[in-house]
Amino acid sequence: MSTYTQPAFTESPERIELRKQVAKLAGRFGRDWFTEKARAGEKTTELWLEIGKAGYLGINIAEEYGGGGGGIGDIAAVCEELSAQGCPLLLMVVSPAICGTIIGRYGTEDQKQRWLPGLCDGTGTMAFAITEPDAGTNSHNITTTARRDGDGWVLKGQKVYISGVDEADNILVVARAEDARTGKLKACLFVVPTDAPGLEYSPIAMEIVSPELQFQVFIADVQLPADALVGDEDGGLVQLFAGLNPERIMAAAFSTGLARFALDRAAAYAKERTVFEAPIGSHQGIAHPLAQSHIEIELARLMTQKAAALYDAGDDIGAGEAANMAKYAAAEAACDAADRAVQTHGGNGITQEYGMAGLLVATRAGRIAPVSREMILNFVAMHSLGLPKSY
Ligand SMILES: Cc1cc2nc3c(=O)[nH]c(=O)nc-3n(C[C@H](O)[C@H](O)[C@H](O)COP(=O)(O)OP(=O)(O)OC[C@H]3O[C@@H](n4cnc5c(N)ncnc54)[C@H](O)[C@@H]3O)c2cc1C
Repeated sequence: MSTYTQPAFTESPERIELRKQVAKLAGRFGRDWFTEKARAGEKTTELWLEIGKAGYLGINIAEEYGGGGGGIGDIAAVCEELSAQGCPLLLMVVSPAICGTIIGRYGTEDQKQRWLPGLCDGTGTMAFAITEPDAGTNSHNITTTARRDGDGWVLKGQKVYISGVDEADNILVVARAEDARTGKLKACLFVVPTDAPGLEYSPIAMEIVSPELQFQVFIADVQLPADALVGDEDGGLVQLFAGLNPERIMAAAFSTGLARFALDRAAAYAKERTVFEAPIGSHQGIAHPLAQSHIEIELARLMTQKAAALYDAGDDIGAGEAANMAKYAAAEAACDAADRAVQTHGGNGITQEYGMAGLLVATRAGRIAPVSREMILNFVAMHSLGLPKSY
């Protein structure tokens, strides 16, 4: 008898149940609540704390630090279902998935105990800062530097487009420290309190309708204790890369959730709205683009689930290719779904009441951040196809 077991192309019953429960919880808040908060300049802390209390926020973090002991597939499912209910939370990508993964894998016992429980229950949110104005996509060119000062460190530099700094207690900052032996600069990760003297931040006026804002962060000789450094001073790059696959998988889930939300609204509208004899959804000009979106979203979800499964099984290389492809496919599917949802709604598509046009910018951000469409194409050209590096 063969011992070969058929690989599963569906998620486990537990994961499916998790999705159902998260959707139920987020559905109690809903899109109108979310956009009202955004337009009033208020926060969605209530929802954040509730998903923390329910155990969903830290579902990927080890149980001994207050988490659920699950994987990236679980937290990605939470992220997607929140988005699909019209409540996309960007800080889920950052706080539990990037920061939680890096600290969970490379933090000291003391650091894990200090920071992970707050990430899990939502009372100690952490932002993540790598992007700089002059370096942009080329993060090898970042100039935020960490200088040794006695036992501790002094940080100096500037970051841009950092999400959720006003809602975070700490920021995991990527800086460069001088290697004492070679004199070369190497990447290091530091946890910096948002109220540290010398750290200032100001919001960037963005066109995204979201309670979560992006910030410029100014770091002027911020003094940090020795244990602000996460992990090994010499292992900064490896440690940083540990956060990249979760980041991409989460960004993909964020996008497929938003895409599902847009498509659900569009399909519902297309069934109801009648301008000639039959509902507009009976015209193939409306039905086909929506059907196409459904296919594209399901393909992107499948790749996201594959990337998460590979990552959770410990296959970092396999997960890298899949996570990049999932993030690309999800962002493309979401941009197209949002555009088609607007078109389906006609004039209503660009009213605030129907809230569809805001999705154009929200989904568009997925093509740019956390890694741009072009950099993913560069990655696939080089690593999947073996083509020469183009930059
Ligand atoms: C909503 C939002 C939230 C964000 N949150 C965070 C956060 O929390 N933390 C954080 O650190 N950063 C964050 N970012 C920053 C984000 O990661 C960057 O915007 C992104 O990496 C692109 O960098 P850039 O904006 O400097 O674009 P640039 O690097 O200036 O690139 C501009 C364009 O040139 C293209 N390009 C550049 N080099 C190449 C090349 N070699 N080949 C082909 N095309 C190329 C890019 O793809 C892009 O289209 C956020 C951004 C947004 C929009």
